[in-house]
Amino acid sequence: MRIMRGRFAPSPTGEIHLGNVWTALLAWLQVRSAGGIMVLRMEDLDPERSRQSYADRLMADMQWLGLDWDEGPDIGGPYAPYCQGQRRELYQAALERLEAAGMVYPCYCTRAELAASAPHAGETERVYPGVCRQRKLDNAFKAARRPALRLAVPPGQYSFTDVQAGFVSQDLSQEVGDFVIRRSDGVHAYQLAVVVDDAAMDITHVLRGYDLLSSTPRQLLLYRLLGQRAPVFTHVPLLIAPDGHRLSKRQQALSIAALRAQGVTAEAIIGYLAFKANLIDVPQPVRAAELIPSFDMTKLQADSVIIDSREICR
Ligand code: GLU
Repeated sequence: MRIMRGRFAPSPTGEIHLGNVWTALLAWLQVRSAGGIMVLRMEDLDPERSRQSYADRLMADMQWLGLDWDEGPDIGGPYAPYCQGQRRELYQAALERLEAAGMVYPCYCTRAELAASAPHAGETERVYPGVCRQRKLDNAFKAARRPALRLAVPPGQYSFTDVQAGFVSQDLSQEVGDFVIRRSDGVHAYQLAVVVDDAAMDITHVLRGYDLLSSTPRQLLLYRLLGQRAPVFTHVPLLIAPDGHRLSKRQQALSIAALRAQGVTAEAIIGYLAFKANLIDVPQPVRAAELIPSFDMTKLQADSVIIDSREICR
């Protein structure tokens, strides 16, 4: 049997908060309860938004919480490097394979043009209407703009069964359209990088937030086109604030650094999240390692989980 290899793949673009720890804890428990290998991969693809100081803090916070890893940026491992910023050649090689297969085309559409073609004002995720697939452009026009690169999505239904969310099926060409795999500033897109890395790092199980469920059919297409085996996916419910908003890096009150500064212990944070995951009956302090023997993913609720940091034991 193949040994389970799971990963936590944060983007070091801010202080980590309870929402990140929730995902990290569940991914860690999935791997540790199966005796597998835990990989930490820093998704620092975007040079504008990523900071080494955030990556350092993130690793320190995880260690403080008792969530360790077997391979990662600080300790290396057989699939090093574990920072996406150092893996660009691999993404470029994958991109060139897709180009050689005739699956990629340059897109010169500007943000304004894309927004104008959106059915509803202000929509960010919209179906790309395929303007540049057939667009005939003269060289002067091409020289004036740097194109993004899009994948020409073949028609068809992309389906999989998610451990948590169940059966998911998407008609990619109708519901997403040709998606960007390299941005116009030359940065490879998350969708491509994550597939290249999870495949190269031999990841068998991906556990991440529900917000990425809708990205998975795109990633499945890339696995197929790159001739790789897709991992088992588990998309866990998101944590939301009592006002119904998703926790974000802006909610500094829920950052681990802020909670720690208030004297909240690592065990109290883990215990609170374990309680919210229905792994323990009362929100009492617990060490992450104590949750391993009885970890049961099926206890997780299906809907978003409302959290209130005032409920954490002090
Ligand atoms: N880097 C992504 C994030 O922090 C997660 C990617 C993934 O787990 O596939 O949202």
